Amino acid sequence: MQMDDHEQQAILASVLKTAVDAIVIIDQRGIVQSVNPATERMFGFGASELIGQNVKILMPSPYHEQHDGYLDWYEETSEKKIIGIGREVIGKRKDGSTFPLHLAVSEVESGSRKLYTGILRDISDLKAVEQELKRLNATLDQRVHQQAEQLHQAETQLIEKEKFATLGRISGGIAHEIRNPLNAIKTSAYYLLNARSPSPAKHEEHLQRIDRQVTVIDSAVTALSDLARLPEPNATAVSIPDIVEAILRDKQLPRSIEVRKDFPTDLPGAWVDEKQLPIVLKNLIRNARDAMPDGGVLELAAQVDDQQVQVLVTDTGVGMTAEVVERLCEPFFSTKARGMGLGMAITMAILQKNHGTMQVDSTVGQGTRFTLSLPIGGDDR
Ligand code: ADP
Ligand code: MG
Repeated sequence: MQMDDHEQQAILASVLKTAVDAIVIIDQRGIVQSVNPATERMFGFGASELIGQNVKILMPSPYHEQHDGYLDWYEETSEKKIIGIGREVIGKRKDGSTFPLHLAVSEVESGSRKLYTGILRDISDLKAVEQELKRLNATLDQRVHQQAEQLHQAETQLIEKEKFATLGRISGGIAHEIRNPLNAIKTSAYYLLNARSPSPAKHEEHLQRIDRQVTVIDSAVTALSDLARLPEPNATAVSIPDIVEAILRDKQLPRSIEVRKDFPTDLPGAWVDEKQLPIVLKNLIRNARDAMPDGGVLELAAQVDDQQVQVLVTDTGVGMTAEVVERLCEPFFSTKARGMGLGMAITMAILQKNHGTMQVDSTVGQGTRFTLSLPIGGDDR
């Protein structure tokens, strides 16, 4: 269907009149040629106040000052900053108030004259929604933050409670550890004070007993203060096989226990305190011995794994239940009739200070393996 010029004019006029968007036509210099009714509504200017004016009258600073520059720029470079692209800008009403706009511009060649058509949409509502969304997002963020904070507090409280429970158990352990020898001492002292004419042998026996029990208390207190005031480690490259040899020489194991050693000749030194690491290995070996009252095999091995020296202490002893493994390193936890229950607590404290870790694998009735991972020695190894 063909339309004549008259029809086209009529349609154009109707489009311009009914459009919700403001439509502003300017020439190359920015002079307004025509505006539609929506422009008048949007900006508060009458059409006659706009036509013949520079379009920058509709723009606040700094766009106001820059607009001529844009037009010149486009004229000279044909670089499209806005034409066919569209962008968000700020409009200025007659009363000076400003509002956000989306602006799309197209270029019209009309004979020798070049015109630009700008279509402007008020996006105040959109912006308001955007702002609200941002606000909600921030509120949400804050809520999440608050929740996390509360969770953290609950966690801290729980840890405090846990610490308190552990402290209780430790105090109980100390009391228990010290009360028995104290009772024995009291009994002997009572005898010595009150016995009518004790034989020299009896006298001697009770004094001996007091002396022994004082030693028991002393070693408990010493172990405990060692644990509490473990000196800062002084790390050097330490040879694991040498330490193991020294311990085995020092502490004779019963004949019923067969000792197997497996150390590679090129094993690097472990970067740990040379006084503290032997305490760890001594404790592990002693526990392995205690776990094999009827004999068995004690295997001592080492290897390099993942940039660390791994030390493996394996026994074929009684093994541990999950509950025992759980409480293994708790001070004063012991399943032994005469056990003080500080060995593993000290072991763990030393490992932590020396940047080592310990893994336990145990099966009741089959045996236990402790795997220590220690840092590797420095440059001088
Ligand atoms: P203690 O040797 O004085 O009992 P430890 O702290 O050395 O205290 O060990 C705590 C407990 O862990 C032991 O009483 C024992 O039940 C368990 N345990 C440690 N090592 C072994 C092991 N090699 N085999 C079986 N149980 C073990
Ligand atoms: Mg022990």
